[in-house]
Amino acid sequence: MTSQRRPLVAGNWKMNGLKSALSELAAMAQGYDAALHAKVDLLVCPPATLVAAAVQTALTGLAVGGQDCHAKASGANTGDISAEMLADAGALYVIVGHSERRTYHAETNAVVKAKAEAGLRAKLTTIVCVGETEAERKAGKTLEIVGRQIAGSLPDGASAANIVIAYEPVWAIGTGLTPTTADVAEVHNFIRTALTGRLGEGGVGVRILYGGSVKPSNAAELMAVENVDGALVGGASLTAMDFLGIAAAYK
Ligand code: PEP
Repeated sequence: MTSQRRPLVAGNWKMNGLKSALSELAAMAQGYDAALHAKVDLLVCPPATLVAAAVQTALTGLAVGGQDCHAKASGANTGDISAEMLADAGALYVIVGHSERRTYHAETNAVVKAKAEAGLRAKLTTIVCVGETEAERKAGKTLEIVGRQIAGSLPDGASAANIVIAYEPVWAIGTGLTPTTADVAEVHNFIRTALTGRLGEGGVGVRILYGGSVKPSNAAELMAVENVDGALVGGASLTAMDFLGIAAAYK
């Protein structure tokens, strides 16, 4: 981690969380004390139904984000949510291109790029997810796949101020498996090079998160890897104890 990049620990609640889950968010906000605040940004992306209430709950500086957005600002798209709607509800971030969206909703790099453009249009800091499947890793194609995803999903106008990359090996999400720190370093260094190739010196400031089975017990080791500027956390972001335990890697 380079000192010019402020770490970010982001939680993705996925399709989990009723109103009662806001008590966990309140506990996270309470635990996000001055010492932690000085070291790391914290973000929680609850389901869209809870974004507005979460913003009210997390008044102490913990940011709230959306998990996905439509590329358009408004229109005849039943069930979809625009980046502008998320911003209107008080969200500061949006995740696009999560592997569950790429897999279950057949989102291509072009679709992810259009969604990322929407995030920037709505002035949301946009987290673009990339990562290889198990078969792609076994075939030795990790860097090729990640390189293609970065090239195809990153919007025009991307900068350190409005974009975060999350490297999430698909096979590590929700499985308890994690790559070796050497493998994480290889991919993060590769992404850094791709970013500086695309954005010049500005690429040095873009935060690159690692995601995939991050827990309090492995966070410190993973967060210490070169060019790892934080974490995108699924399961362990559902409780304040685990989420704050991960953020404590930066204390
Ligand atoms: C995720 O879905 O982004 C994720 C990293 O999940 P988990 O932490 O549960 O592996």
